[in-house]
Amino acid sequence: MHYTPETVKEFADIDASIASIEARKIEIENLAKERRLQQFTASNGCDYCRGRGWVVTWDTMDILDGSAADYSDCPEKGCSAETRKASGLHPSNNRYDYNRRTRWNMSEDMTESERDEYHTSAARLVSLGYARQSIYDRAAVRKGKLVEVMRKSRTRNSAQVGVVGKVFWHGVSDYGTVKVGLMDTEGQKHWTTEASVTVISQTAPKSYEQKYEDQYPLLCKITRKTNKAICVFTLGKSNPLGGEWIPWSQILNADQVQEQISGTLLKDGKPATVMIPPWLAKKKGYLRE
Ligand SMILES: [Zn+2]
Repeated sequence: MHYTPETVKEFADIDASIASIEARKIEIENLAKERRLQQFTASNGCDYCRGRGWVVTWDTMDILDGSAADYSDCPEKGCSAETRKASGLHPSNNRYDYNRRTRWNMSEDMTESERDEYHTSAARLVSLGYARQSIYDRAAVRKGKLVEVMRKSRTRNSAQVGVVGKVFWHGVSDYGTVKVGLMDTEGQKHWTTEASVTVISQTAPKSYEQKYEDQYPLLCKITRKTNKAICVFTLGKSNPLGGEWIPWSQILNADQVQEQISGTLLKDGKPATVMIPPWLAKKKGYLRE
C-alpha cells in the first residue's frame, strides 16, 4: 500500500530504536569479551587449552557437533587447576565447550548495569517488534477500512486520485497485482491497486454502507460457482440456457452468499437472495427501466 509520510516516519523511528538497541547489545558483548580477554592475558592464561584444562585428541568428521570426540588433560607445562582458576576461561566458545559444559558465559563479565541493560533490551526489542507490527496492521488495506486513492494506477479504468471509499474487495488479480475495490457514499464502485491507496480510517462510517434502495434482491437458485462468478437460475422466470453468470465483484452481499453456499452441493441449485446493483439487474432483464 501507499504509506503516508507519517507512517513512513513511524517505521523509521522504530527501526532506528531497534538498530540502536542492537548496536548497544553488541557493544556490551564486546566490552565483556574485552574485559575477559584482558584478565585472561594479564594472568597468563593457557592459550593451548583456552583455560579449559582439556584438549581434543581425536574427533570423527562424521559427527559435526563434536559429541564423539576424545579428550585428554592439557599437556602444557605450567597449566594447572590453580593457574586456570587464576586466569579463568578465554572468551571463546567452540562446539566442544557445549559438550563439556565449559562455555564462557559473557554475562559473568558484564557489570551489573550492563547485565541489566543487556537483558532488558531483549524485552524492549520484542515490544518494538509488536509496535512495528501494529503500525503495519493499521496501514494494511483490509475489507471494511476507509481508504483514499493517492495516485492513479496504470490499469485501465482505475480510480481517480482523491476518491475515498470503503474497501469491499481486496485480493490478487490474475496478473499477481493486489487489487482493491472501494465503494464511495454514492454506492459507486472504484477499482485500483493496493499500492495506490492509503488507509485513512480503520472502519468506514455508516454513510459508506450500501443502501437497500441501491440493491436489487435477486431471488434465485445458485447452481455453479467459480472464483470469479456464480451461475444462477431465477425463480419464476424463464432463464437463458445454462443459467446466468453473475460476477462476485458485483454481488453486494458476497460474504453472505459465500457463506450460504460454502460446502454445499450445487447440483440442484441452492436457493439464495443475491443482492446486485440495479444497473446490472436492468442489464440482465430482471428489472425493467
Ligand atoms: Zn592448558
